[in-house]
Amino acid sequence: MTFASLANQYVCDVPIYEPGRPTGEVARELGLKPAGIIKLASNENALGPSPRAVAAMRKALATAHLYPDGDCFYLRQALAKKLGVEKENIIVGTGSNEVIEFLYHAFVAPGDEVVAGDRAFVIYRIMAKSFQARCVEVPLAGHTHDLPAMRAAITLKTKLVFVANPNNPTGTRVSNADLDTFIKSLPSHVICVLDEAYIEFLDDPPASIEWAVGRSVSRGSDIPVATGRGKNAPPTKPEPKVVVLRTFSKIVGLAGLRIGYGVAQKECIDLLQRVRQPFNVNAVAQVGALAALGDTGHIRKTKAMTRRGLAYLEKEFKKLKLEFVPSCANFILVNVGEGGRVFNGLQRRGVIVRPMAAYKMPGWIRVTVGTIEQNKQFIRALKSEL
Ligand code: PMP
Repeated sequence: MTFASLANQYVCDVPIYEPGRPTGEVARELGLKPAGIIKLASNENALGPSPRAVAAMRKALATAHLYPDGDCFYLRQALAKKLGVEKENIIVGTGSNEVIEFLYHAFVAPGDEVVAGDRAFVIYRIMAKSFQARCVEVPLAGHTHDLPAMRAAITLKTKLVFVANPNNPTGTRVSNADLDTFIKSLPSHVICVLDEAYIEFLDDPPASIEWAVGRSVSRGSDIPVATGRGKNAPPTKPEPKVVVLRTFSKIVGLAGLRIGYGVAQKECIDLLQRVRQPFNVNAVAQVGALAALGDTGHIRKTKAMTRRGLAYLEKEFKKLKLEFVPSCANFILVNVGEGGRVFNGLQRRGVIVRPMAAYKMPGWIRVTVGTIEQNKQFIRALKSEL
């Protein structure tokens, strides 16, 4: 008997996530020096981790023999204060990836449906396979989520609808007004997951936290709910169900620590708490994330570097007459004609980017904004490849 024949059969169909290639792996394969390689493949922070986080984490190593705080008390308390919500509105995970998995555990059963963009974060689709659900992929319109089409794709079987805003891999956003209209239109059996991994790069973010915790927003679903207040009481409309996902992997540069969080109504968070492992978030990550929250200098520098870098890359793409998708995040999609060949060629020149064939964009690559020097190195290598 093989392991595969013993496995749950649906597991055999789950695709394995292909991450951006690590520097060490590329160095070994191509005989390059790791120090000479730049990785612009995973939307990490080219400035490095928040210095305040690094200092705090050094201290935390001395107590690494103790289990972490399973409740993430101090981090949740600090996040709650920053977001103007309560600690019970927040759950912390090993990356926002883990919170996505919690949502499937809590809400998605075999045969259910989830709705997502057809070129959105691939984990939504992979998780659907793992939970024997169907991921209904709605084509993007103009590289952006087509919210009316996503609304139209919702059926009675739909449990989750994912809106990555800004979206990965396109770097596009939906307008705040369109998002409000979409959320108000959702039926009460659907949970809207606003994946905001890159939200800090926006100057005018949506009122997502208010949607998530259900206060100071005008209610809007068209489906009235029974109130139990008697036959003649006016029907009240249900709160939209919204979960916001955020991460410490991008703007504060702690991707290696694996820490992110979800914000939602207390009832929802209580359910998500039931499906997590007791000590899911390690102690060093908790301390690092807490310190990073207050590192406004590093956040400001990261944003400024990203803006400058995007402007430089767009200018160079225009000079090279390459089509690109204007981005609101810390990465950008560019059409280089033959994405696979250019990806391999850049790699040989010590620049790791992301080929986009898996996203049905074989001509394109996605490149993370680096430091000024890294962006220049990328453009030099790209010119040689083209
Ligand atoms: N959502 C989106 C849209 C992403 O791009 C990523 C990271 N690539 C994540 C979620 C997961 O982030 P993490 O697990 O590192 O918090």
